[in-house]
Amino acid sequence: MKTIQINILVFTTLWLTACGDRGVNFFSVDDDKSFGEELVKSLEADPVNYPVLQRQGNEKAYLYIETMMNDILKSDQFKFKDRFDWEVHIINQDVLNAFAAPGGKLYFYTGLIKYLDNAASLAGVMGHEMAHADLRHSTQQMTKVYGFDILMSIILGQNAGEMTNIAKDLALGLGTLKFSRDNEYDADRYSMYYLAATKYDPRGIGSFFEKMIDNSEGSSTPAWLSTHPSDDKRLQNIADTYTKDDEFKKLFKGDGSYGLYKEEYDAFKNLLP
Ligand SMILES: [Zn+2]
Repeated sequence: MKTIQINILVFTTLWLTACGDRGVNFFSVDDDKSFGEELVKSLEADPVNYPVLQRQGNEKAYLYIETMMNDILKSDQFKFKDRFDWEVHIINQDVLNAFAAPGGKLYFYTGLIKYLDNAASLAGVMGHEMAHADLRHSTQQMTKVYGFDILMSIILGQNAGEMTNIAKDLALGLGTLKFSRDNEYDADRYSMYYLAATKYDPRGIGSFFEKMIDNSEGSSTPAWLSTHPSDDKRLQNIADTYTKDDEFKKLFKGDGSYGLYKEEYDAFKNLLP
């Protein structure tokens, strides 16, 4: 029995090394969901650090941001549209950040929402965060970094508490584990694929980065940029997706119907505390 286990471990380690960044994931889809649910619970239990805006009394603001999320979910590019319980939360704090927990739990700080100029930019960031969840980047990265430990704990039947904490720290940008550059580029690209099915200009994620980069010179690094490195390659990739990507071309509605929706966005911002 021991030999079989060791063989599995050796094989898996080699397999992980060979596969590198993409694809391999030892966690189940239900693991993603339960990591996300645990994160929601732990943020709710910590209102000092994470003052989540209550739905009661803020129904109109939540209706706006949930409608946006549901519009984006209409894209046929999602794998887990129906299996994940997609949720969006607003954190009432002047922080330039947003994040997604595994399983489709999204968080946006009011600082970021107020900083953005139009609905297409918020939809672009939202698409990016939704892509991290739908492409299961968290558990993929955890497999890559902790593959051996995960297999050991599966074989030995240990509980998953430690992994839950790692998933939480990854979402919040607290631990050493981060999304890879390829994860980031893929999330940008998928944001554009998703938005192609909506009314929002699919370049929203690009305009957001440009604004962040312009405004970050000389000042401290905004929270989002510390977990989302922005460089010329990133902007170039976004531009290339728009002009050269065959999948994007198939999804793009060539009828001039995309917009930025600044007015409705200003009205949304005015609803926030
Ligand atoms: Zn990201």
